[in-house]
Amino acid sequence: MPIRDELPLPYPEVSRREFTRLLSLGAATLALPRGSLEAHFAREAMKLEPPAGAIRLNSNENPLGPSRAAMKAIGELGTDAGRYPFQLEDALGKRIAELEGVPVECIETFQGSSDPLHRAMLAWTSPEKALVYAEPGYEAGWRACKVTGAEVVQVPLLPSLAHDVRAMCATQKPVGIVYICNPNNPTGTTTPRDEILWALANKPAGSILIVDEAYIHFCDEQTVAPLVVDHADLLVLRTFSKLYGMAGLRLGVAIAQPQLLNQLRTFGMLSASAPALLAARASVDDPTLIPERKALTRRAREETFTWLDKHNYAFHPSVSNCFMLDAKRPPADLAKAMADRGVIIGRSWPVWPTYVRISVGTPDEMKAFCRALDTVA
Ligand code: PLP
Repeated sequence: MPIRDELPLPYPEVSRREFTRLLSLGAATLALPRGSLEAHFAREAMKLEPPAGAIRLNSNENPLGPSRAAMKAIGELGTDAGRYPFQLEDALGKRIAELEGVPVECIETFQGSSDPLHRAMLAWTSPEKALVYAEPGYEAGWRACKVTGAEVVQVPLLPSLAHDVRAMCATQKPVGIVYICNPNNPTGTTTPRDEILWALANKPAGSILIVDEAYIHFCDEQTVAPLVVDHADLLVLRTFSKLYGMAGLRLGVAIAQPQLLNQLRTFGMLSASAPALLAARASVDDPTLIPERKALTRRAREETFTWLDKHNYAFHPSVSNCFMLDAKRPPADLAKAMADRGVIIGRSWPVWPTYVRISVGTPDEMKAFCRALDTVA
């Protein structure tokens, strides 16, 4: 019997102690055998509400939430929330097209960017067409390949922590998708634009290149979105869950030529909600939002790095809102110790078993993170 059926879901009440126990399992999720009871609990633990007042540095969210203008727009929606949001969708699509310098037909909005990423795997991978991605990397793609039965080719990041684009494109089997995340999750490191252009020119025949730019706003990298105009085999993904602070509202964008977008459309209904569309519109119309939030995240990140250096912690410098920290112990133990001190940290990746991902919160949250880390050392 599938394990899911044997367990009561959702958990009705979880004590703080139980939460931290489950969370420490959560940190080790990927290291647990699939289908095991512990793996199940670990996955479920990640869905639990953290204790009130906890500092949440585990999901690369933005603690600031939606911008003031975005919240105002949602508040003014009123009875129009009773209408289907087709016009709002069109209006946002037009605005994003203008900003990205692509025709409006090259834009589609979704409920977050996990949705088009998942659909892309359904559309373009299969038992005959592999996914090629970098490790450590964002897991959503290869998880979707469990549905399509596609082989997953993992290529380690280079020592610079850029994608090893040359090795990825040298994959000796039919490839459906080459996936590049720039900046990368979980390392927060970038892949040079020239290498992405090289991938576009040299990827395996018949494959689609996905460039996931979920975190692009935090860094100085230039987007590759305008290149979709000349490249029928490029899909660029964006989300409002990160810098824009709208993870709970759910809004993502796929940028590609219409024939690719049409293939994604066949895998479900398009249903971004009116509040999300309005909040996204208000966010992109605010010219101060990206520079302000980018600068704040950079300050919080750099202050943390300075502290970590001073206290002899090894970490990989990042240009995004997350970074990898050497836990100096099993990451699950560190996660539990930190959770006991009210700081929820992220997960680890099996290829880097001693490292744990830390999301960058506000400068004050990061100070609290450093204080907590100091006491568990
Ligand atoms: N892509 C990357 C690299 C991510 O890290 C995430 C979320 O963490 C997403 C896409 C999807 O985010 P969402 O579905 O909230 O838009």
